[in-house]
Amino acid sequence: MNRRFAVAYRSQIRSLRLRACFAAGVAAVGLSACARNPVTGKNELALVSEAQEIEMGRGAAQQVEQSIGFVNDPQLQTYVATIGKRMAAQSERPELPWEFHVVNDASVNAFALPGGFIYVTRGLLTHVGNEAQLASVLGHEIGHVTARHSVQQISKAQVAQLGLGLGSILSSDVAQVAGIASQGLGILFLKYGRDAEKQADELGFKYALGQNYDVREMDDVFVTLGRVGEAAGAGRLPEWLSSHPNPENRVESTQARLDSLSRDLGNLTLDRDEYLSQIAGLTYGEDPRQGFFEGNAFYHPDLRFQLEFPEGWQTQNTPQAVVAVSESQDAMIQLGLAGRTPPGQAAQQFLSQEGVRAGQASTSSVNGNQAASSYFEAQTQQGAVQGLVSFISYGGNTYGLLAYTTAGKLQQYDRVFQEAIGSFSQLRNQAALSVQPAKLELVKLREEMTLQEFNARYPSTVPIEELAIINEVEGPASEIPAGRTLKRVVGGRPSSTG
Ligand SMILES: [Zn+2]
Repeated sequence: MNRRFAVAYRSQIRSLRLRACFAAGVAAVGLSACARNPVTGKNELALVSEAQEIEMGRGAAQQVEQSIGFVNDPQLQTYVATIGKRMAAQSERPELPWEFHVVNDASVNAFALPGGFIYVTRGLLTHVGNEAQLASVLGHEIGHVTARHSVQQISKAQVAQLGLGLGSILSSDVAQVAGIASQGLGILFLKYGRDAEKQADELGFKYALGQNYDVREMDDVFVTLGRVGEAAGAGRLPEWLSSHPNPENRVESTQARLDSLSRDLGNLTLDRDEYLSQIAGLTYGEDPRQGFFEGNAFYHPDLRFQLEFPEGWQTQNTPQAVVAVSESQDAMIQLGLAGRTPPGQAAQQFLSQEGVRAGQASTSSVNGNQAASSYFEAQTQQGAVQGLVSFISYGGNTYGLLAYTTAGKLQQYDRVFQEAIGSFSQLRNQAALSVQPAKLELVKLREEMTLQEFNARYPSTVPIEELAIINEVEGPASEIPAGRTLKRVVGGRPSSTG
């Protein structure tokens, strides 16, 4: 959460604007235009032309860059883009303005926007083990674009969004903390059906094989993702798995495709060492510089502020905002950045939205920082809500704190809201201010040893089970041959408490 953080209110405004332009697009094209699918050659219902598809993707791509942000490593960016562009150039749609970026996000994910904008997360890069695996993932995402899955999905999404009003300004679902993560960027994390996944697998297989990559590695990516999910606990799938339903018989399909090939698979490349040298030094896991929780206190070292959320509330640091939801899931507090708009003006903008009614207002400062606050009532998709909104000027930025509950419960939560908002203050804790993220390091083994022996000699700051997953070995007792390069994780915050 540094640049990721910089969106909360703005991104909501931006995504509304985005939707508005989608709506205009639909109106202009009409709802029944047909277009030839570049991959299948079949005519199909298309709501948008290719020019519109690219424009749509570009708009969303800007949102990705501004909200999630890119990993600041030009060499790594070029490396990933080069692999992706080589495959895209051989695809059915070489003329698209293809872009490939590594986004600064710890989750294990990859996604594609219409028009050829493809993203892999830093978390995905630290988890895959060689270039062939990365190419498989990129190829699969390219497939979603060439087969027009992403534009079809976005078309459906945009139609569904038409006529959505305030619901998207206030969090659309007070009750679901899980849903909050995709709020604002929700439109970017499209879910495809199993058929689309199968087709993307097939296309990715073709593109990766075209570059002589060992396409059997795609299965290993899914094995790793499965293990990440298991380690995270029941019901917590890595993002890429949850947005990419597993097509039936993925492994069998890959095998069938391989069997149908007449070429010698022995010549296919993994490019393990080249890949590993590219990801050496990469930040591993959540970057505490972008904000972290300790209990219910939230610290942001880069932006130098802290905030105390109510005891027992569920908290989450998402790309768009920091959010907390009450135990009974009927109240929410959300912190985001409202740019540099002065607090009074930001409050006015918020309160003048359609469906929002202002209540009692105040310009009292918060811990010495200039602020503008107001009670409000608003109509959302989920019904009427009541709350307190406060904009605070601090360190050259304006922070927006939005606290609300279902209508009729404001009295019950008023004090809690006031306390949380009133806790926004300068971060002075030296340990928090100087926290650094964990980094990935490489060690080339000079002799054979087990993972356990490796971990004893070169300790990591993650559990050995996690070390096994990122090195694609079975467990602590696995023998690792001499000459093999292993990942280890160094530094970072001592085991997280929040
Ligand atoms: Zn997919």
